[in-house]
Amino acid sequence: SILPAPTQPIKPGTSTGQHFWHTTDASTEQPRKTIDSYSPADGQLIARVTTSTRADYDQVVETAQVAFAEWRLVPAPRRGEIVRQMAEQFRRYKRELGTLVSYEMGKSLQEGLGEVQEIIDICDFAVGQSRQLYGLSMHSERPAHRMLEQWHPLGVVGIISAFNFPVAVWSWNAMLAWVCGDVCIWKPSEKTPLTALACQQIIGDVLRNNDVPEGVSCLITGGRDAGEWLARDPRVALVSATGSTRMGKAVAEAVAGRLGKSLLELGGNNAIIVSEHADLDLAIPAIVFGAVGTAGQRCTSTRRVIVQERIYDDVKSRLKNAYAQLRIGSPLDESFHVGPVIDQAAVHAYQMAVKEILESGGKFVVEPGLVEGLGFESGCYVRPCIAEAENQWPVVQRETFAPILYLLKYTTLEDAIRQQNDVPQGLSSAIFTLNMREAERFLSATGSDCGIANVNIGTSGAEIGGAFGGEKETGGGRESGSDAWKAYMRRQTNTINYGTTMPLAQGITFEL
Ligand code: NAD
Repeated sequence: SILPAPTQPIKPGTSTGQHFWHTTDASTEQPRKTIDSYSPADGQLIARVTTSTRADYDQVVETAQVAFAEWRLVPAPRRGEIVRQMAEQFRRYKRELGTLVSYEMGKSLQEGLGEVQEIIDICDFAVGQSRQLYGLSMHSERPAHRMLEQWHPLGVVGIISAFNFPVAVWSWNAMLAWVCGDVCIWKPSEKTPLTALACQQIIGDVLRNNDVPEGVSCLITGGRDAGEWLARDPRVALVSATGSTRMGKAVAEAVAGRLGKSLLELGGNNAIIVSEHADLDLAIPAIVFGAVGTAGQRCTSTRRVIVQERIYDDVKSRLKNAYAQLRIGSPLDESFHVGPVIDQAAVHAYQMAVKEILESGGKFVVEPGLVEGLGFESGCYVRPCIAEAENQWPVVQRETFAPILYLLKYTTLEDAIRQQNDVPQGLSSAIFTLNMREAERFLSATGSDCGIANVNIGTSGAEIGGAFGGEKETGGGRESGSDAWKAYMRRQTNTINYGTTMPLAQGITFEL
């Protein structure tokens, strides 16, 4: 089983088995608060998960600190070997965990399995990285001196994650942090606590079998309060937070207030530019997948399509036809394209956005609505819709986490790039064109201002090999591939004098 035995109360703690939780709060003797996890697929209560109190949290941090003192001494390739074994466990439990992700979060089973595949991929990447934590060496200006830099482990890393990638985002952080010699405390979204418990369970055997110190992998449960404990705690060297821009601003302020390090992965408002030189057979499926995949709840979901005016009507009618073929239904049934949104609050946000689009003067090319009836009892199924809109409308400038696509028009490429960049967020972007000049312009310094800019590929579906993240209100953090590992280590510059004199830098003399 990937979950603790159902006869035991489900409670967090550390992956190697020590749980600090009791069913009553020791300070008040009151029963502990619980989080009820409901599936948006069928509205069923899946489980009740106990939440951590501040006292539990402090005990977790202390255990993590003790573990760090030991873990940082384990050679990095040996730490990589432990992550390699974790990858094996995730391969073994891919179907079970993928299904749980799909059931608890509501994304399609294919996407749930894809998310577990991302864990496996980042594990493989981190194993290789464990032998490549390279520092540079520099030529000193002084004779008989050597200069170099080293990268050392940081300490306790707090990971705050969002509901929409309930397990992958944790792994992007944790796997790299572990090979870098850090210990992790994970605060998953209160909307998806079970998938987090399952991950801890899956890696538990690996940690135990390798005598990894208790506290290298910790989990705390709860909502905003628990996230705030991490953000404000000077014992937490790095807070990596994924979620809304509102949350990111609060975390950034709290962490900066104590001069800690933060890594922020926040909201997006991603656009695809469709040029008159586009291959529409590539563009249309990319737009549709980007807009309706995960019911529009990816940070990289396509929210805006900016179309050259000469092909606007053609693109509009092709999108309309494509949307007519979409089948909405249970995420666990692979014959459906679109599943539910996470909860009633998300449905409400969708409905409020629809109202605002109409009030702003928007016209729906594909009509919105709630899907009701047999199989939709959870009340979380909404129709993917397309609205003709204008970029400056407040509703278009905001990220609504639902399958709403805005259709915008442009005249020149200059105008398209301006619209694409003219939003507060800067995560993902794409252009569809077969014209080399247009493509290169889009990728140039005067092109897209996003962290991700693609040509003839949609905005979602990043590979773990590249650094992932975005600019402006997306927070500026980079995770996963490339040299993202550096965020989890501290850089130290070393100068060694192996000569017999004491020359000073910048030619300064100091006679005694
Ligand atoms: P959310 O901001 O509501 O919650 C995210 C996490 O932050 C949760 O664990 C929550 O408990 C915690 N939290 C909330 N307020 C906090 C505070 N003041 N201090 C500390 N922690 C706090 O986001 P969500 O609804 O779960 O996720 C959707 C959002 O996440 C979207 O905006 C999406 O674009 C973004 N997201 C971004 C990326 C990325 O890599 N850029 C990836 C996934 C999701």
